[in-house]
Amino acid sequence: MFFKNNLGFLRRRRLKAAQVKVKCPNCPSVYTHELTLKNHLRYECGLSPRFKCPYCPYMAKRAGNVVDHTKRRHRNMKPYFLDTLGSYKPRKQWNS
Ligand SMILES: [Zn+2]
Ligand SMILES: [Zn+2]
Repeated sequence: MFFKNNLGFLRRRRLKAAQVKVKCPNCPSVYTHELTLKNHLRYECGLSPRFKCPYCPYMAKRAGNVVDHTKRRHRNMKPYFLDTLGSYKPRKQWNS
């Protein structure tokens, strides 16, 4: 029993000291901080890009990202986004 506890303690200490990469259990994403992974799980993981730029094929998981995109890439156009949910099937895209 003592031996087991001691091992766990040692392992925890080593993990904390090293630059640990935390891998998302649901997809191939890897993060250097647990907090980033938590945010990813909460807001992104498993979600397909839902919001689309009306002027080009750009898609994002957050409407704000598409608005930012239209402001930057389509300066003479109105900042705008399309919500694709329901209009057609979103496809899975991990590396967006
Ligand atoms: Zn994930
Ligand atoms: Zn665009």
